[in-house]
Parts: sequence; C-alpha cells; structure tokens
Amino acid sequence: MSGLPAGTMREATIDLGAIEANVRHFRRLTGVEVLAVVKADGYGHGAVRAAAAALAGGAARLGVADIGEALALRRGGIVAPVVAWLHAPGADFREAAGAGIELGISSYDQLTRAAAAASGDHPVTVHLKIETGLSRNGIAPADYRIVFAEAARLERIGRLRVVGIFSHLSNTTPDDDRAALHAFMEGVGQAASVGLRPPIRHLAATHAAIDLPEARLDAVRVGIGIYGLSPFADRSSADLGLRPAMTLRASVAAVRRVPAGTGVSYGYTHRTDRETTLVLVPLGYADGVPRQASSRGPVRIGGRDFAVAGRIAMDQFVVDVGDHPVGVGDAVVLFGDPTLGAPAAKDWADAAGTIDYEIVTRIGPRVPRRHMQA
Ligand SMILES: *Cc1c(COP(=O)(O)O)cnc(C)c1O
Repeated sequence: MSGLPAGTMREATIDLGAIEANVRHFRRLTGVEVLAVVKADGYGHGAVRAAAAALAGGAARLGVADIGEALALRRGGIVAPVVAWLHAPGADFREAAGAGIELGISSYDQLTRAAAAASGDHPVTVHLKIETGLSRNGIAPADYRIVFAEAARLERIGRLRVVGIFSHLSNTTPDDDRAALHAFMEGVGQAASVGLRPPIRHLAATHAAIDLPEARLDAVRVGIGIYGLSPFADRSSADLGLRPAMTLRASVAAVRRVPAGTGVSYGYTHRTDRETTLVLVPLGYADGVPRQASSRGPVRIGGRDFAVAGRIAMDQFVVDVGDHPVGVGDAVVLFGDPTLGAPAAKDWADAAGTIDYEIVTRIGPRVPRRHMQA
C-alpha cells in the first residue's frame, strides 16, 4: 500500500465506492428497500458522505438514532427520507417535523407530541416502534391497543401519516429472532385490526437481513453491512461479499535502533529480546485505538505483519520491527480491506475484546477522514 499524502500524520480513508457497492449487494440479496443506517457519524465514516454513497447505491431511506443527527444530514444537503428513533424525554418534534424528518415513535406520549408538531395540513410522518423482546425502547405489548387506536385516529384526521412499523432483533439465536418476528407480526395484526396498515414493516438489521430471510419484510435497516463489516463472529467481510470501506493508517513518526533489554512504553510491559528497531506510530487511544489491544493489536508495515509492542498511549504506540527496514514516513496500516493485505477491523476488535462496530465508530475527531469518490 502506498504512503500517506505528504505531511499527513494519520488518516482514515473512506472508500465511498465500497459503501455504494455494499448497499447494492443488500438490494440484490434481499430484494426489498434498504434503509441505510448512518447514526454515530456513519459509524465513524462521516454521516453525510456515507449517506450520499448509500443513496447512490440504491438505499431508499436513511436511519439515525436522534433528531440532531437527522437535522445534520439535512444541513449537509441530504433530501432523502430520514427516520430518527431515539428521543430525549420531552423532545420538541417541531423542528424535525419542519425538516420532514420521519419519527420513530415508542410511546403514547411521543405519539401525541408528534401529532402536535404537525403544522397546517402537513401531517407528521411516523414509524411505530414496538417492543418484541429486546427490552429497549418501543411500545410495550400492553400498550399496543391504545397507541395503535390513537395513531389510527390521528391519521384519519390528517395529523399523522403512519408509514412504518418496526422493531429490532437481539441476534441471540435463530429461535429467539423467530420468536421476535412472531411477536412483531402479532403487533402488525393488532395495528391492522384498528385500521393501521403501514406500508413499511421493518425488523431486520444487517445480521437478520443476511441470515433470516423471513424477517426481511418490506425493508431492512442495514448499518454495519454498508460499511463492509461483518456482524458475525465467524464470517469475514469477504465471506459475505462485502468490502470494508474504512482504512486507518498513520505515517511512522520516528525510528530508533535499540539494544536487547530495552523497555518500551509505559510500564515496560514489552522489553526487547534482542537488538532491534522500534518504530513510533502516531495514533493512540485518543484516536480510538483501544488501549485494551496493547501488546496485541495488529499492524502492517511494508507488506509485513507486526503487533503493537507494549502499552498503547493516548497519542502513540510502538512497534518492534526487528531488522526489517522501516523508515520515518513509511505507512502503517492498522486495518482496512484484508483482501488487499490489511488487518481487519475485526482483528483489532478481537485484540481488544470488543466488536468491529466499536472499532470503526470510535475513531476520533483528531483523525482526518479522506473520502475517496466511487
Ligand atoms: C443501529 C441500528 C441498526 C443497524 O444495525 P446493524 O447491526 O449495524 O446493521 C438497525 N436498527 C436499529 C434500531 C439500530 O439501532
């Protein structure tokens, strides 16, 4: 892999063509609408650019957690439908309604406040979120009847348009997810019994979009998959036909030849066992490189694989490269597309005891994102 642009200490390159291709893959695989999830700054990839790439790949709708994220997409020039589903207590829905944001509704209180945000003859567009086993937000089964009846009434008088009904799966076992699907269809049936027939029933995120075809319904909400990462412990991106979009790299900041017995980084948890070369990599936990991956996190330098030596610090870590020739300014790849020789984000997740979602999402604001057009 080539070097970083001159003067660049660290960067995350984002392959927008990969996001586009991944969305296209989910369109073909599922045959239903793809709702591309770009919350948390597009899982660290840049929400507006990721959203635009997802739309270019055929996504019909975007999903974010909160209204602030939805409004940021509008400010970034995104005009496609956007749904936001996690709201502050007492959140004011008027600005969102004015910007045409679709609201995920998890309670009677949210429903009435959404209807109150309608202005003139412009109904507010909502997706009813129902609880089917995850125990997070969503309308409780005991409240289905009263909330659905009120939603139907508000729709009849033109305050609301109920375009969606949705829930979220636990991915515990296929049986657990099938039980949640069953509970979901019960909820859909109860809604129909009071005259609500939302055209977009959506339940599956990436995991079920791939593994539980009966859960695809009218739309799939795909997050991690559009960024080309796998939600499965035992299947890689390539196994799923996906291309990782983010590559995290840094330029070697310093090189030092040291004798055997030299302590490395805080606590000297690594000591050189021979005369060797140590290289300094200017990325640390402030940049989202997990300190838990100290002494383990993989890197690739000059086509060779190495691991972090000793503790990862706030701004930097060290790699012991032996006698391998490495110079200041050489590129260090932390993760990217393994089919191109980079470690996988999943390798860092394994080294840190977490999941690849967390690795890409936590890459910090000090790391510039360079977006590469399709
Ligand atoms: C984050 C999120 C998703 C996306 O999940 P992935 O596993 O990243 O595909 C889908 N739906 C909801 C409700 C979410 O919060």
